[in-house]
Amino acid sequence: MTTNTLMLNLSTSAALFERAKTLIPGGVNSPVRAFRSVGGSPVFMQSAQGAWLTDVDGNQYVDFINSWGPMILGHAPEIVLDAVRQALPNSLSFGAPTHREVEMAELIRAMVPSIEKVRLVNSGTEACMSAIRVARGYTGRAKIIKFEGCYHGHGDAFLIAAGSGALTAGEPDSAGVTRGVAQDTLTAPYNDLPAVEALISANPDQIAALILEPVVGNMGLVAPAEGFLAALRNLCTTHGIVLIFDEVMTGFRLAPGGAQQLYGIKPDLTTLGKIIGGGLPVGAYGGREDIMNQVAPAGKVYQAGTLSGNPMATAAGMAQLRYLHEHPELYRDLEATSARLADGTRAIAAELGLHYTVNRVGSMFSLFFTSEPVTNLEDAKKCDTAAFGRYFHAMLNRGIYLAPSQFEALFVSTAITDELVEKYLNACRESLVEAHS
Ligand code: PLP
Repeated sequence: MTTNTLMLNLSTSAALFERAKTLIPGGVNSPVRAFRSVGGSPVFMQSAQGAWLTDVDGNQYVDFINSWGPMILGHAPEIVLDAVRQALPNSLSFGAPTHREVEMAELIRAMVPSIEKVRLVNSGTEACMSAIRVARGYTGRAKIIKFEGCYHGHGDAFLIAAGSGALTAGEPDSAGVTRGVAQDTLTAPYNDLPAVEALISANPDQIAALILEPVVGNMGLVAPAEGFLAALRNLCTTHGIVLIFDEVMTGFRLAPGGAQQLYGIKPDLTTLGKIIGGGLPVGAYGGREDIMNQVAPAGKVYQAGTLSGNPMATAAGMAQLRYLHEHPELYRDLEATSARLADGTRAIAAELGLHYTVNRVGSMFSLFFTSEPVTNLEDAKKCDTAAFGRYFHAMLNRGIYLAPSQFEALFVSTAITDELVEKYLNACRESLVEAHS
């Protein structure tokens, strides 16, 4: 197994991880942080500024995870810090409504026009779980369709792998998820319209919702095939199914109005997270007014939260969203920077005789260690994950912080300068050589 101690001094991180393992399951508070799929042990972080992370041993890295998406402006942007500083003296939490929640709802509606009404929650998971409950309450139906390889948080209904064939009901993917729950989640391969049609006709009038990442970030970056989203929109309209775009990753990232703006498709409900909190815990779900009016106390679908709409979180989130809303040119810059990174990666791999697949949409991209196109989970699974593990550690040693898994996307922030693009591409070349030597 590769280790990450070849060049960097990671002794403080290693000691902290030993302590953490005696206290926290697997030593981490979210599984992918544990470096299980790339080997070695995780780096513990101390601080971050702009594009740079500093770990507890003083090593510095250019960050391409950005807290798994939220830090689109890089770390510690002054506008967000100022907003939190201003809110801080008033109270950390009231448990009563505040003006900021109203302003935040107005801003979300202005940026994502399919959202007529919105409810703030504390995470992407909560947003997705709640959206499904609302869809079930609205339609009076039980089943949902999701796609293999899409992640919608850790709600029971989403932790379902495909059965042996798209028409079978799901099997639980995690201990603790009951068969009863699993049988209400139907799965299809991403980008496979006939599989979705078959599920719908095999379960007439039983499907409450179809949920998907309109651009997938959770099996590595996978784009929807031409016409796929529009076809799903039509199917859902025809069959009275609530179409839910999970834009927890893509919202405010691929465009001010997310993937739905980029592709021109209007879902019935949208789930949001990550960028909407500016680095603090926020999620949201919203959409058509008639559907959202089902939510308590307006309607009979119960959903609540002690800290929902929290003053710190809404201050941070709104400052970041407002900045994005007022600076649409920033998406052009992100597109240009990301294109240089992704195109450069592809060209370097090809020069080295590695015709690896690089998928990119906007400021999200992935280098897949396979020469086959990657359009769904089956394709992604063909990657040489051992070589990816070696590449990951070679990049880390060169000061480039990537997600510790082949099946994740890189997130580009506005803090990535031309100079840092060069640094990344140089490291990419050396690391690809090292991973294959
Ligand atoms: N949906 C998508 C598309 C995600 O990528 C994630 C997390 O990565 C979630 C939902 C869950 O969000 P959270 O981790 O905030 O609960």
